[in-house]
Amino acid sequence: MIDSHCHLDMIPSWGNKEISWEEKKREIEEILEKAALAGIDKVLNPGVAWEDMENLLDLGKSFPRVFLAVGIHPHEAKTWEEGSIEKLKEFAKDPKVRAIGEIGLDYHYDLSPREAMQRAFSEQIELAIFLKLPLIVHSREAHEDTLRILQSSHAEEIGGIMHCFSGSLDLARAAMKLNFDISFSGSLTFANATRLREIAKNIPLEKTLIETDAPYMAPVPFRGKRCEPAYVVKVAEKLAEIHSVPLEEVIEKTTRNAERIFRI
Ligand SMILES: [Zn+2]
Ligand SMILES: [Zn+2]
Repeated sequence: MIDSHCHLDMIPSWGNKEISWEEKKREIEEILEKAALAGIDKVLNPGVAWEDMENLLDLGKSFPRVFLAVGIHPHEAKTWEEGSIEKLKEFAKDPKVRAIGEIGLDYHYDLSPREAMQRAFSEQIELAIFLKLPLIVHSREAHEDTLRILQSSHAEEIGGIMHCFSGSLDLARAAMKLNFDISFSGSLTFANATRLREIAKNIPLEKTLIETDAPYMAPVPFRGKRCEPAYVVKVAEKLAEIHSVPLEEVIEKTTRNAERIFRI
């Protein structure tokens, strides 16, 4: 299995633990060993903020099974300014960087002005098209604007992933038309996620990915706890149940999709 979206760099400090980067790396090594034992052999770690970028590249260098995306999360869009696109382009040159993300819009938390989120989003799509890298899109309670920007920015030229999907079936279908695959996290296993499971059932496994979004979104039975990549198997099991297919089929197809998109 591949955990297509996991913030490995944030797992050790979950709960606001103040520890050094070297200590964090030792813990990440253990987390990756545990994941390998559970059948997860590759992980994609997306970027969030400028201050994480150096550590992210260090993770890519230190761990052969860790691949990266670089991008500025909508929460951090207020830090996107003149010249940011050039700065991000430099980070994207690293050979382990396989996507631009996570980028998008988050109107649930509104931690940056919406105008800033939209500008950072469309400029990063522009960069991804220039670099021919797929996108990892985060959209929360902003689905109409997300789709509008993806369409007007010609995101279909590179496509990518709608991560931790929480939209409607209409949005999923519109995104698939733009060359996007749909990724489900542990939220698919939550007791109240009946609607999301109904949507997942209508998305072919050929366009479906699995992720943890760790340290967030821990699947049942770990809900509320610190999430880690080993738990992605719970998302795969839920998809097997939803589609009424063997677990092996879900694993094979979702792994192939992640390999295709990230060229890993
Ligand atoms: Zn996200
Ligand atoms: Zn994320």
